[in-house]
Amino acid sequence: MSQQDQYVLALDQGTTSSRAIIFNESGNVIGQKQIPFTQIYPKPGWVEHDPMEIWKTQYDAAVGAIENAQVTPGQIAAIGITNQRETTLVWERATGKPVHNAIVWQCRRSAQICQELRAMGLSDMIHARTGLVLDPYFSGTKLVWMFNELPGLKARAERGELMFGTVDSWLVYNLTGRHATDATNACRTLLFNIRKGCWDDDILRTLGIPASILPEVLPSSADYGMTKKGLFGAEIPVTGCAGDQQAALFGHACFRPGSAKNTYGTGCFTLMNTGSTPVDSRHNLLTTIAWDLGKGYTYALEGSVFIAGAVIQWLRDELKIIDDSAESERLARSVEDSGGVYLVPAFVGMGAPYWDAEARGTIVGITRGTGRAHITRAAIEAIAYQSYDLLVAMERDFGKPLPFIKADGGASGNNFLMQFQADILDRPVILPEVNEVTALGAAYLAGLRTGYWASLEEVELNWRKRREFTPDMPSEKRARLLEGWRKAVDTARVFK
Ligand code: ADP
Repeated sequence: MSQQDQYVLALDQGTTSSRAIIFNESGNVIGQKQIPFTQIYPKPGWVEHDPMEIWKTQYDAAVGAIENAQVTPGQIAAIGITNQRETTLVWERATGKPVHNAIVWQCRRSAQICQELRAMGLSDMIHARTGLVLDPYFSGTKLVWMFNELPGLKARAERGELMFGTVDSWLVYNLTGRHATDATNACRTLLFNIRKGCWDDDILRTLGIPASILPEVLPSSADYGMTKKGLFGAEIPVTGCAGDQQAALFGHACFRPGSAKNTYGTGCFTLMNTGSTPVDSRHNLLTTIAWDLGKGYTYALEGSVFIAGAVIQWLRDELKIIDDSAESERLARSVEDSGGVYLVPAFVGMGAPYWDAEARGTIVGITRGTGRAHITRAAIEAIAYQSYDLLVAMERDFGKPLPFIKADGGASGNNFLMQFQADILDRPVILPEVNEVTALGAAYLAGLRTGYWASLEEVELNWRKRREFTPDMPSEKRARLLEGWRKAVDTARVFK
């Protein structure tokens, strides 16, 4: 069978839906299927998913995508997995049955455990070894919560009866029977030493986690086994695996140190490739593994803006000053500038580089002439200013200027935002032809392993830009606007 008749299937297991996308050799989408699943909120601040529903929707999405693409399972050369990160699952080794719902990355139930670990003075050690901060976001303290709250669970773990994994492991286990994860997912657990490349014995001992519960850590492009007979009607090799943000960095072909991507969704996720050295941030950014192609790790700096596209939803749903997100662009363009108005959407505090949990949102600079167009424009501009703050922090940590940034995500469809981002950053902002960069990254990792794509150079050649926004703002104007933003942020942080 020629390469033309062969495809790669990416499983994109997200927080609200399971998706499957089939790509051809040029990286184009041939077929896809998306299935939403249930969000479970047992208490305020707690979020769970049903592991069986995750598996079922993901499997059905895969079968549906193959059907929609009008190909046969035999034409799928490889499967790559990308997933919501940090979400924590435990299941029985003997039966494969989950012992509890998955505890989702957003879930804050282990805040108290983190507080206790901080009080024990462990923050610096954990940060130095894992690149992370002691926060309920990461898997480790979610697992500790299960041990503390579910009777007998820890004893069973110590007897070797249980398996822990993030969503990638859960899918690999159900697809091939192996208990494995990749380095990009392992490094989000709070249990993995990103410098030594192994589970950290000291952290495991401190948290009381037996090593036997942990999955084997494989490269992101590696052999995860063949799909079980009976699943697809053909045995397909699973050969790619990466957490969603790292997969997006890969799908954008950000292979060179210093290249970065920003995903403009509900929040923004920004990652910068820092090459073979883990860069320790002086601005509270996370240090993470970008990927492992089996030849040593590539590292990244990571930061996120909590409220990005969400501020547009807020204008629509709470203020009701726009009907839909697309209207925000028309309205922003209907005025010459924001009229001196700044909106700081610190609805849930401010993330990197500020890390101010108590800061609250504010709108400053309002005059009698301020209208909804100015406020809308200020809201869009705020997405760009917050990303600017993150990207500048990354540049400083890395020590070299960014050449450009690559963008994706729902709000990257806003041309006004993209141009303003380029202007404020004074760097080009580039959009890819294929917007499905996360799934594409997983497909590339899988296809590189089987030889479907021959090399990173070939993948890079495959990357095509749809549009480039070039900076076009006089430097005095940029400095003046940024000065205003700084004052607005200070105001948001003073009012507590
Ligand atoms: P997520 O994956 O985080 O759910 P998406 O990548 O689907 O997010 O993007 C959805 C977000 O993008 C929403 O918050 C929405 O308000 C925002 N968004 C979508 N289109 C636009 C637009 N044209 N202008 C500004 N924001 C937009």
